[in-house]
Amino acid sequence: MKTAILGAGVSGMALARTMIERGFDASDVHLFEAGPVVGGLCRSKTVDGYTYDVTGGHILFSKDAGVMQWMKDCAGGDDAFVKRDRNTKIRFGDRWVHYPFENGIGDLPDDVNFECLRGYVDAWHRRKMDGSEAPADFKSWIHWRFGEGIARHFMDPYNEKIWKRPLEDITSGWVAGRVPDAPIDDVLRASIGIRTEGYVHQAIFYYPKKGGFQAITDGIGGTLTDRVRLNTPVESVVRHGEGWRVNGEDFDRVVNTIPMNELPGIVDGIPGDVADCMRGLAFNNITCFLLALDRAEHPNLSWVYFPHHEQGPANRITYMSNYSPGNAPEGKTSFLCEVTSPGGRPFAGKELEDDVVDGMVYAGLVSRDEILFTDRTDTKYAYIVYDHHLDERRRVSIEWCEQNGIHPLGRFGHYDYFNSDQCVIASRALAEKLLEHARTG
Ligand SMILES: Cc1cc2nc3c(=O)[nH]c(=O)nc-3n(C[C@H](O)[C@H](O)[C@H](O)COP(=O)(O)OP(=O)(O)OC[C@H]3O[C@@H](n4cnc5c(N)ncnc54)[C@H](O)[C@@H]3O)c2cc1C
Repeated sequence: MKTAILGAGVSGMALARTMIERGFDASDVHLFEAGPVVGGLCRSKTVDGYTYDVTGGHILFSKDAGVMQWMKDCAGGDDAFVKRDRNTKIRFGDRWVHYPFENGIGDLPDDVNFECLRGYVDAWHRRKMDGSEAPADFKSWIHWRFGEGIARHFMDPYNEKIWKRPLEDITSGWVAGRVPDAPIDDVLRASIGIRTEGYVHQAIFYYPKKGGFQAITDGIGGTLTDRVRLNTPVESVVRHGEGWRVNGEDFDRVVNTIPMNELPGIVDGIPGDVADCMRGLAFNNITCFLLALDRAEHPNLSWVYFPHHEQGPANRITYMSNYSPGNAPEGKTSFLCEVTSPGGRPFAGKELEDDVVDGMVYAGLVSRDEILFTDRTDTKYAYIVYDHHLDERRRVSIEWCEQNGIHPLGRFGHYDYFNSDQCVIASRALAEKLLEHARTG
């Protein structure tokens, strides 16, 4: 069964490795990769000794200990990683507020603390009294769940910054497990200054000592060098008998990890209504700025959220040199600033960098004379946007692929809001399915 895997990010490579490790003939596995290196969204870049993850700071963590160990082993084992306690904050004026916000309201000015607590209790009480169901749109859900104060001071402005559209246009369906959900007792404690943790998921994470997060995907790709065709964009996928012809070469089956939005321009014979669904799947881009600093030490922080307009366009910064000292030259430090933009629109020009730096200066994180240089990477397809059409468009798109022998996989290949470990888990499940299929014909 000659198999074409479109894309050599973590999903495509984990699939190839699993298939080969489970006895599939390696010479029948072919990965097509448009880029000059493997890794996709997990890639990192090093400039003058400063390393950053090009699509936002990445950390390794997983609820599946076996998968996490496999990812570490691919990249040199435990000794090749640093272990970190997550220390995440929200910047609020000149204060550092514990994350999640509702567990940190005791760090706010008294009047804001009171407003947030009051709103949280009101919302809690209203839900108890009217037994209302969670509202379907994200904006209403925020106010229903967190109350007016937290909505006004954090949830609304932060989410508007990252999603770049009215929050009414986004569903609330994706929030379970992604937006922390504090019990009321924790918020009461937080308000009077008793520390509550709130979000223990990712409390500890791992990061490669050298090479950025990409060290992991480099490691996964290490045994696949003769299976991956780099600099080889897939330009045509045409039906041929029972299989498909990819860039003019015959394959028995195809696995797709490249964004589904791109398939109508590549795959022959997609009906118009299905193609419209694929093209209409909503996403956001990301622009990342490395700020290489002439500074010896940072506060002991992992990353920081910036909810407010005056703090500039970046919604999050990562202390890259705190992830691993290997991310900066000795005696130096660095930040990574992330800015999203609506998918499908052109990336902003040079002025964006000025706005980001102005915002960081305003927020008191950096002074201009510390910045040795900056580096910028724009990436299309960073965040899946859960607009009200997503479920239906995704269902139609996946159904058509599966019915036509194209197996969808990965963050944008299957449109799942996956981290890299979840991509590995999904790839393993698909490998089992394909092996079973190969056995039974
Ligand atoms: C801001 C942000 C933060 C994140 N943080 C974390 C984190 O902390 N921890 C974590 O584990 N995960 C994190 N993730 C998620 C992680 O990056 C993804 O889950 C993972 O990289 C997706 O891998 P993939 O292989 O499915 O897709 P991709 O990485 O997108 O791989 C698809 C591949 O297809 C290639 N391709 C595209 N078009 C073509 C074509 N026409 N022909 C051939 N090849 C093509 C691309 O070059 C790419 O290599 C984060 C993601 C973002 C955006």
